[in-house]
Amino acid sequence: MATPLAQLDPPSTRPRLLLVDDDPLLRSMALRSLQHAGFEVEEVDSGEAALAAWARRPAELLLLDVMMEGIDGFETCRRLRRLPGGAEVPVLMLTGLDDAASVEQAYQAGATDFVTKPIHWGLLAHRIRYALRNAEVRHAVERSRASLLRAQRLAHMGSWEFDLQGRMACSDELARLFSVSGEAMHCASPQAFLERVVPADRERVARARAAVLHEGVPYQLTFTIERFDGGLRSVCEQAAPLHDALGRQIGVEGITQDISERTEAERQVRQLALYDGLTGLPNRQFFLELARSALRQERPGGTLCALLHLDLLQFRSVNDALGREGGDRVLRVVAERLQAGLRQRDLAPVGTPGRSAALLARVGANGFMLLLQDLAQHAHAGTVAERLVRAIERPILIAGRDVVLNAAIGIAVHPRDGADAPELAAHAEQALYAAKRAGRSQLRYFDEGLNHSARERLQRETELRHAIAEGQLRLHFQPKLDARSQRIVGVEALVRWQHPRLGLVMPGDFIALAEESGLILPLTDWVLEAACQALTRWPATLTVAVNISAPSFAAEDLVERLDARLARHGLDPARLVLEVTESMLMADTEAGVQRLHALRERGYRLSLDDFGTGYSSLAQVKRFPLHELKIDRSFVRDLHRDGRDRALVASIVTLARLLALDVVAEGVETAEQAAVLGELGCHLHQGYLYARPLPEDELTARLGPAPPFTSPSTPPSTPPSTPTHASPPAAAPPAAAPPAAAPPA
Ligand code: C2E
Ligand code: MG
Ligand code: MG
Repeated sequence: MATPLAQLDPPSTRPRLLLVDDDPLLRSMALRSLQHAGFEVEEVDSGEAALAAWARRPAELLLLDVMMEGIDGFETCRRLRRLPGGAEVPVLMLTGLDDAASVEQAYQAGATDFVTKPIHWGLLAHRIRYALRNAEVRHAVERSRASLLRAQRLAHMGSWEFDLQGRMACSDELARLFSVSGEAMHCASPQAFLERVVPADRERVARARAAVLHEGVPYQLTFTIERFDGGLRSVCEQAAPLHDALGRQIGVEGITQDISERTEAERQVRQLALYDGLTGLPNRQFFLELARSALRQERPGGTLCALLHLDLLQFRSVNDALGREGGDRVLRVVAERLQAGLRQRDLAPVGTPGRSAALLARVGANGFMLLLQDLAQHAHAGTVAERLVRAIERPILIAGRDVVLNAAIGIAVHPRDGADAPELAAHAEQALYAAKRAGRSQLRYFDEGLNHSARERLQRETELRHAIAEGQLRLHFQPKLDARSQRIVGVEALVRWQHPRLGLVMPGDFIALAEESGLILPLTDWVLEAACQALTRWPATLTVAVNISAPSFAAEDLVERLDARLARHGLDPARLVLEVTESMLMADTEAGVQRLHALRERGYRLSLDDFGTGYSSLAQVKRFPLHELKIDRSFVRDLHRDGRDRALVASIVTLARLLALDVVAEGVETAEQAAVLGELGCHLHQGYLYARPLPEDELTARLGPAPPFTSPSTPPSTPPSTPTHASPPAAAPPAAAPPAAAPPA
């Protein structure tokens, strides 16, 4: 190992002194005695000569007489201190004056020490050696301090310490790290120091600093600070207790190092290794890692995952036409569209709410991989894939040209098609090849059986889209009445599909498909429009209930659009009852409650449908600002036979009464059921006992002057004899067109 320069011995071992005195006798005595003691001595007789000698060749120590012709010793010392190298050299003043004032003056002029005349020659050599040694130690300390400061600066590392009273000392580099002046750091305190730590990390740092201060536990932490210029820096800090000579803790010392550059470099390395540079998406290797851990997670209720491999078809021709840069822009747009298509809200109908539903990666020049999680059915993977393909097919405007892309997707479902991520990926890729062979914009499951059902499903979805657009939907209305008076208090609008081949299709067969494919939004629009048109033809006392599915309920503009629609028809919002279900409120209770409040404020009536089948506790129902609970049909069915159902209905009626809610029994089919409901205090009924859902003209006929329905004791088909009715006979409306004729909004 090389020896540092500072530690090398000087070429001559005899220390060189400069002796300055105007007394020749003293000089010759001193010369003899000092040379004898082993020093090399140069002698001069005045201050001016001393300064000139110093300029020629500096000495290691000066012996300086005070009283001299010309400039005196004090002035000589002062001037010497300003010369290059003159600041640190030890100066011993030779003085006959030993009064306090002269001594003080000597120190003020920069003297290191003083020797009084007459001089004791034997002692003088010792004083000189002592002064030289002192100077050497001071130089060494100074050198190591300077090299420490250099090292701290190079390492962006500041040091600090504070004592038990909270007094703090900091190095210059620490000041630089915090972007303050060194002076400002003089007023640093442990508290102010802590306040520069960003709030997210502060608690952790405070705990560690308290532990080292009170319990002597050292620490090493990485955290972020906010500099005084507002910049954020990552730092690594180490601290340990500070002890006195007796081993008692007197404070804490630490070093804080700016590691921002290293952290940033690490981030960049990570980014390069794990992400695709063009789109910022994970690359294949990282995606498989993420997928592996996602697949290991426990799935609620046996839900499925699906791995999708998507390839853009004929992408080379895009590159040929637009050049490399244009191709890159297209890829970025595709990545954005895929990401948008995977947003949580859009996946809500097919995934479990509250979980991160999808992972997306770029896996090749024109390939992407996706992992969909928590799917309820195999088919939902196809629904999402279909939507993604459609999103990609929308023209992309690049350099004034519309680029139209096609994509193929291969799908492998977990656990059916593979136990782990690599196996799923391989199978999704095989499916992709099959999809590509089949031509443009195709999707394929790895499993043949799934392919068959996917095709059927896709066909039904296409049919439903046409049905909505081309007027194949019909609206039927089922009365809701007060069993005591037989008065119709409202009707529920129930949608049907007049299928050209299959005849009248019931909502149970297409509402779920509509929800999963997003078609529920135009479908609900159609139903609302048809229901409003019917309302305008009916007496003003009649209300219509419309079933609102989760995606419609969550739509941001729900309230505005409802308001606009009712205003257009000149209808009072109180005539529209919105039926929602527990499960959709439970998906996001907070948002649900807010949405209900907004609707209620605008005057809409709110009903909780199928009550008892969801998961809400009675306590939660209290939070929802509702007007009505509808007891699900399944509790009404066996009411007269099953004691448990009876008790349940009784408690729902009690709850409703407590919360001042109307309570409606759904699916009342028999007089017995009606009677038990009456006994339990539930008088609002809906069911086949009174009427099936009817086309508008039939329902309108029932609203006529004659009493509309039988009492529960007579068969529903027989015209009733007691004239009770919801609407005044005079308001009986003219015969109306069926809602199916109404154009969608
Ligand atoms: P829901 O809202 O609970 O509607 C009541 C269902 O019970 C209707 O079935 C009705 O015909 C049936 N029902 C009424 N009384 C009786 C009875 O006494 N016995 C029996 N067995 N059934 C009775 P529908 O019309 O088949 O509708 C089924 C479900 O489809 C509805 O349940 C609702 O959830 C949904 N639905 C219907 N129309 C729409 C709509 O326009 N939009 C949305 N989002 N969902 C709709
Ligand atoms: Mg309903
Ligand atoms: Mg219901």
